[in-house]
Amino acid sequence: MSIKLINPFDAHAHFRQGETLKNILPYTMNQFSGALGMPNITPAITSLIHLQDYMDEVLQYVDEDRFMPMFTFYLSPDLNLEELEKAWENLLFHGIKYYPKGGTTNSENGELGFENVAHILSFMQNRGIPLLVHGECPEIDGELVDDFEREARFYEYEMDALVKHFPHLKIVLEHITTREAVNFAKAYSKQVKATITPQHLLFDRRSLFNYNEATESSYTLNTKKSGIMPDFVCRPLLKHQKDVESLRNALIWQVKHGKKVFGLGTDTAYHAPEKKYCECGACGVFTAPIALELYAMAFDQIGIINHLSVFACDVMPEFYSVKNSLPAKTVILKKEPQQVKESYYGAKTPFAGQVIPWTATVVD
Ligand SMILES: [Zn+2]
Repeated sequence: MSIKLINPFDAHAHFRQGETLKNILPYTMNQFSGALGMPNITPAITSLIHLQDYMDEVLQYVDEDRFMPMFTFYLSPDLNLEELEKAWENLLFHGIKYYPKGGTTNSENGELGFENVAHILSFMQNRGIPLLVHGECPEIDGELVDDFEREARFYEYEMDALVKHFPHLKIVLEHITTREAVNFAKAYSKQVKATITPQHLLFDRRSLFNYNEATESSYTLNTKKSGIMPDFVCRPLLKHQKDVESLRNALIWQVKHGKKVFGLGTDTAYHAPEKKYCECGACGVFTAPIALELYAMAFDQIGIINHLSVFACDVMPEFYSVKNSLPAKTVILKKEPQQVKESYYGAKTPFAGQVIPWTATVVD
């Protein structure tokens, strides 16, 4: 069995900075024709000068004939509209990302809700600038929300009001994990897209405590090997089996109705081992080296492997209007066993050191 992907695109990646950027970006550049880099670096990208500095830093490692890195601003009340206008006209960025304050890595400068940024949202709506949403409520009225319920609460409490006030704002629901987010995406599919990570399609929250064993067709949980699995801790957290089913059913719905609402965004998030494997370890799953293989495992399991091309190459590139400007890259996915490396710069991908059933090869 083999699948051909023409110009696969990752709509949610963490390129990182400094030495890590240099070491880690090649894995995303290898599998994808382009990727959208998130702005939660230090300091967060909230001004044109920050954006340009970061672009320069990233571009020194990029062969632009083979890979198109794309960039985002960090939603903050301090964003300068004149700067945004200039940067948008010059195609320097492709969206502005909302982080709930304290919700994830480097989100200390984020907002709680959209009240303080209404003037920016209305500017974005008028210009057609997409809002990228990390959809979680870490707290409501000063009360901490249960970590597993933050996404469901966010869609109940924040999003209906947002689309009511800004009915023409283009929105991407990033890394969705729950039935509530799926339902919201379907209900507002005229103005909304949603990305799904490989880990949220493959694993439910039992994987936080049980070892995942790759098998010839997919994987099983080895409950004899149980304990805390830090490599599976990310924000939003892995959810209940029923939520994984909702994501999978959303893809089946998309195939059945020929829709383009749900697309690929890995949220690949490398953390150095000393930051990941420690007390209060960092959240994030590192998937870049085998991202397409992981998606193939999920799509194969769902029985929609032929739809992977639409999900990976059409939905998000069309939304960001880059479908025809991505550099040419053809990837063949074959159902051939592959040994996954033990670690990459100290970080483990899912199924590290095991044999997985799919192999991606860049052929052109
Ligand atoms: Zn992310």
